[in-house]
Amino acid sequence: MSKVRVRFAPSPTGALHIGGVRTALYNYLFAKQNGGSFILRIEDTDQTRFVEGAEEYIIESLKWCGIEPDEGVGFGGEYGPYRQSDRKGMYAQYANQLLESGHAYKAFDTKEELQEARLAAEKDKKTFRYDISTRMSMRNSLSLSSEEVKELEANGIPFVLRLKVPENEEIHFQDMVRGDVKFSSNELDDKVLLKVDGMPTYHMANIVDDHFMEISHVIRGEEWLPSTPTHVLLYRFLGWGDSMPVFCHLPLILKPTKGKLSKRDGAKFGIPVFPLDWEEKDGSIAKGFREWGFLPEAVINFLALLGWNPGTEQEIFDLAGLVQAFDPTNINKSGARYDFAKAEWFNQQYIIATDNEALAAKVAPILAAKGHHPSHEKLVSICALLKERMGILPDFWSKGSYFFEEVKAYDNQKVIRKKWKLDRREAFNGLAAQLNDLEKYDAENLEQLVKKFMADNSLGFGDVLPFLRLATSGSTQGPPVFEIMEVLGKQTVNKRLEQAYSAFDEVIKAKLQQL
Ligand code: GLU
Repeated sequence: MSKVRVRFAPSPTGALHIGGVRTALYNYLFAKQNGGSFILRIEDTDQTRFVEGAEEYIIESLKWCGIEPDEGVGFGGEYGPYRQSDRKGMYAQYANQLLESGHAYKAFDTKEELQEARLAAEKDKKTFRYDISTRMSMRNSLSLSSEEVKELEANGIPFVLRLKVPENEEIHFQDMVRGDVKFSSNELDDKVLLKVDGMPTYHMANIVDDHFMEISHVIRGEEWLPSTPTHVLLYRFLGWGDSMPVFCHLPLILKPTKGKLSKRDGAKFGIPVFPLDWEEKDGSIAKGFREWGFLPEAVINFLALLGWNPGTEQEIFDLAGLVQAFDPTNINKSGARYDFAKAEWFNQQYIIATDNEALAAKVAPILAAKGHHPSHEKLVSICALLKERMGILPDFWSKGSYFFEEVKAYDNQKVIRKKWKLDRREAFNGLAAQLNDLEKYDAENLEQLVKKFMADNSLGFGDVLPFLRLATSGSTQGPPVFEIMEVLGKQTVNKRLEQAYSAFDEVIKAKLQQL
């Protein structure tokens, strides 16, 4: 096999959604696995759809995901320029070559004429297609005499170049996912190759660039499968058939419910569909995986398995592991459903695997935004306690705000009503006093002290521990209570016990009044 060179070729028409990131990822994996190059090409021939900031967004997203291109816009390389608008001048000669060899023709039809043809077809309950069956009834260099064509041109009438699709041909190509794929040429339309302004369309520019960038494999979304026979014809007609790339069309990513995942589904389902935050034209923000609190490694792992399976039960793969295990022939043909809970599960696995020091650095900005600036040391100990309980980074706050702020409510009133006794208050006051006297205030000593207190007062775990938990954290759930107490420290625990005892008493008094 000649050197593997693959490209990710997004159009800068808005934020890249996770389908695009997955395409980039599969390209990256395939390149790395084969010692090849991964290229970023920006396909911006359609200036009407160009969106400010989209190109920068694409580059930043790839960097955040850790799948940086070897060549391309923003990354350098010897096959540039890599932005199609910077290659403008290169394409017309190949479209003209097709014209000269009889594989393309000039079409003079105006917008109005095309619209008329569409409406006429609609009347017959058909869809108009500019193709072998209709081209002779349109205004083009095949249907008109050469004198007529010359006159139109002399009068400066604008024209496009269209591909002349041959009749009754079976067009074959190899697809790594689908094997031998065939289309009948009769299903194809005569695609525009060069627009009236002389700019190439996607099809023309894509083929010329893939050829000159020596792309060996075209790995892209399934939505491009119907365009591929047109591309095959272009390769052949340009005399590049022998070096045509191998194709690999990736399955669609489906919504959590039904149908293809769209950019609007993020807002609809309350889930991220973009890697990074993206500001829409109306100023609203579509939230990205990054800002949602995902780790890039988790997003990559999740996306890798959305449409590909390793053929084993293994689910956790870091990027290097993916490079090794990735096998394009195991890419599924059918669409892959986006399951947000699964994405969170992956993230949780990566949070757990992150060492506490590194995790502390990741959650520090979340705390800073809430106005808290704990010492690094304290943060590291809290990370150790909370990480098993975090699906996304902001869970650090929702599950651990009591480490930084007063406890505002006690979540388990039922336990209080059932188990707190007014006549034990004295004993619990005694416990508070003993805790205050404890010199080495660590989890081990705290546990010993509390156990002794239980034995001395003939109290069981259920009589004491839930109240220590509620008092210190506001909840009967969470990390081991003695560890929470150690991190909170003597002063805070004392204050919280005092407050909580009174609050628990109030609950019981209210209960007694109701009886
Ligand atoms: N510019 C196309 C896109 O936006 C690229 C398709 C291809 O990879 O050929 O998806």
